[in-house]
Amino acid sequence: MIRIAIDGPSGGGKSTLAKRISKETGIIYVDTGALYRTVGYYVRGKGIAKDDNQGVISCLPDISIELVFRDGHQTVLLNGKDLGDKIREPEISMYASAVSAVPEVREFLLETQRRIARENSVVMDGRDIGTVILPDADVKIFLSASNEERARRRCAELRAKGIEASYEEVLADMNERDANDKNRAVAPAIAAPDAVHLDNSGLSLDETYEAAMKIIKSKAKNKLPKKSKSKMLVHKRSMTGFYRFMWHIFHGFFKFIFNSKIYGAENEPDADYGAMLVCSNHISATDPIAISLSLHRHQACFMAKKELFKIPLFAQLIRMLGAFPVDRKKSDVSAVRHTISILEAGGWAAMFPQGTRHPGEDPRKTSLKSGAGMVCAHTGADVLPVYISTKNATHRLFRRKNIIIGKPIKFEEFGYEKGKAGEYARISAEIFDRVCTLGEEWEKANNAK
Ligand code: C5P
Repeated sequence: MIRIAIDGPSGGGKSTLAKRISKETGIIYVDTGALYRTVGYYVRGKGIAKDDNQGVISCLPDISIELVFRDGHQTVLLNGKDLGDKIREPEISMYASAVSAVPEVREFLLETQRRIARENSVVMDGRDIGTVILPDADVKIFLSASNEERARRRCAELRAKGIEASYEEVLADMNERDANDKNRAVAPAIAAPDAVHLDNSGLSLDETYEAAMKIIKSKAKNKLPKKSKSKMLVHKRSMTGFYRFMWHIFHGFFKFIFNSKIYGAENEPDADYGAMLVCSNHISATDPIAISLSLHRHQACFMAKKELFKIPLFAQLIRMLGAFPVDRKKSDVSAVRHTISILEAGGWAAMFPQGTRHPGEDPRKTSLKSGAGMVCAHTGADVLPVYISTKNATHRLFRRKNIIIGKPIKFEEFGYEKGKAGEYARISAEIFDRVCTLGEEWEKANNAK
């Protein structure tokens, strides 16, 4: 696990940098400012003046704040409700700044922030991360830029969100907030003594990112997830020209034979996503083919029993789709190792947590293998859940296959604890639970019979 703290004044580019680090490394990005903004939003909604400290404190028992991470994106829920960009309004910024000076508010939000960092690798931005929230963070960066540049950036950011604000207003608001943040009695926004100062005035995002990564690597290179290395190789593993050509031919053919329908194709990430383990239920021998032909942007390699590689033509087809042989009479170790090496190179691989086919059975009642959990734990790869259903069959040559693609699950969501007994089996079970839930939700929504 790695904990990276990025502090500094508003508009210094903390969130842009933290998001980029998160994207490149797969570490969760935690935007702590959103928590103060949410409290500020609630207080304003109650008609309480922002400098009425007692009024602010009296609101706290009625506020429940939850941080949820979906596809690596943070959502803050206020009493179960997602407020979206409403917390980004300039007036809410001023409220956030005011409520953040109230010690009871900081105390109220402390544990939420610490808990996330206890359970996950995080890159967390704010004002007091390096000093109060994570005083023993592995890396502390204090990011800043000139006042004018920060005001310009904030203006552009607001406009991109459709919020109109003049440069002069933004600069004045920012200066006021900075002064509040720096001079408040509790957790003032200052650099931790062991923070590395980074001034990014005049630096592009790429240059800022490179400078930050240099700092991170100098402090905690061995704690960075392996995924960051894999990302660079990923383009080699997305669809090649030949694969794409063959894919289109077979895609049409199989769609016709199975009368197959793909749901959730938009959940398949872009070609530069990085390592991914595709996990599905297993009901028939053609599942790997159906999965390969349902993924539009990636070639997912999968293991197939070695006997299949003796069948002429079929062998060529599955090889072309990225299959590699597994000798099921011996152990699966070398095939699992091969899967790991594909993921370490930033590629995509597919596995069936059930191990073998279980046609016609309730997937929740079948036994599971721990291989998928093991592969994930070793590589830190995210998981793409897929469910194959033959429900809603129509009278065609073969039964209809519905391929349902879910949203990727971030590896961090599994909360892997290295060295703890039973972790591989637990992660496999969690993966398969998500696969089953995906299928159940689809069947319910589609009235599948
Ligand atoms: O970072 P952002 O501008 O969204 O934060 C909004 C306000 O929340 C800041 O002006 C600051 O007053 C407060 N804040 C804080 N401590 C943090 C994060 C934000 O006091 N860790």
